[in-house]
Amino acid sequence: MPRVAVLGIESTAHTFGCGVALDDGRILSNVNSTYTPKVGGIHPRESSQHHSSVAPQVVRRALEEAGLSFEEIDAIAVTLGPGLGPCLRVGATIARALSIVHGKPLVPVNHAVAHIEIAKLATGLEDPLIVFVSGGNTIIASYSDGRYRFFGETLDLALGNMLDSFAREAGLPHPGGPKVEELAQRGTKLLRLPYIVKGQDISLSGLLTAAIKLLKEGCRLEDLCYSVQEYAFDMLAEVAERALAYTEKKELVLTGGVARNRELQRKLRIVAEEHGASFGVVPPELAGDNGAMIAWTGALAYKHGVVVEVEKSYVKPRWRLDEVDVPWVEG
Ligand code: AMP
Ligand code: MG
Repeated sequence: MPRVAVLGIESTAHTFGCGVALDDGRILSNVNSTYTPKVGGIHPRESSQHHSSVAPQVVRRALEEAGLSFEEIDAIAVTLGPGLGPCLRVGATIARALSIVHGKPLVPVNHAVAHIEIAKLATGLEDPLIVFVSGGNTIIASYSDGRYRFFGETLDLALGNMLDSFAREAGLPHPGGPKVEELAQRGTKLLRLPYIVKGQDISLSGLLTAAIKLLKEGCRLEDLCYSVQEYAFDMLAEVAERALAYTEKKELVLTGGVARNRELQRKLRIVAEEHGASFGVVPPELAGDNGAMIAWTGALAYKHGVVVEVEKSYVKPRWRLDEVDVPWVEG
């Protein structure tokens, strides 16, 4: 099969992104524009308005940087879920229009699968245990029998969402994760917070409530940031370690926006080392939501015949990772 070039569109939450990838693993462009709320967290309608307003420039720049025209693109890939309905619909509408106007097949991509595939491409790991942590997801998974299967997840809040919510209560700007990491480095005292692991799942809402209570009681913010990270990351490391022991995978990969956190990287590197597994982290520029990961996953999927008719390309805000066949992954 000759070279395949895929244009990918991301719009699940705060970021509208467009990238171009080749099926040999080369990323030709990755252009992203992120909506930052003036107050509070992500407002789905405001974010979707941001996406519609930047979409034309982002798509044009992604093609320019890739040095390709629409004629040279083989397929249009788009994230159909999981994500925020109004945001997903912007990406889907644009992808459908491009597919029809330029006569290119449309490739549906699951956003969680894309975070996994870009991490595998960037780290060179082939069959890892996956820790995927972002604003909207907290998932431990690995490949088995045609799909990525869950080995643990959050029962309530996603890790990034929890950090962002705590930061917001502390008056820090969005996104809070990086600010919490910075302040945590100056923390000196471990404050007692709930540590909740149920089977292979973790729960973060009790930790958030308790941390906000201590904040209002006047505890030092640096100590709180340090403690929130310690508790949350240790819960995650515990279930990741059990999953690694059970699956006997020889690789562990960390992906998603929260993968940028150095302390989380340090803890999971130790888990991997203790089990004789290689450890890899997605690079910062591919950690958060981005167009390149959709393009790359789209290229893998398209080569395996995964396409969707425009009429059936519904968005799926709750599309789970373990509902997606991944025929390009070898067992
Ligand atoms: P994503 O949803 O994949 O784009 O990732 C965004 C999430 O990553 C937000 O919740 C951010 O707060 C979080 N994040 C980004 N950088 C860091 C960091 N250094 N430490 C912790 N969380 C982070
Ligand atoms: Mg994401």
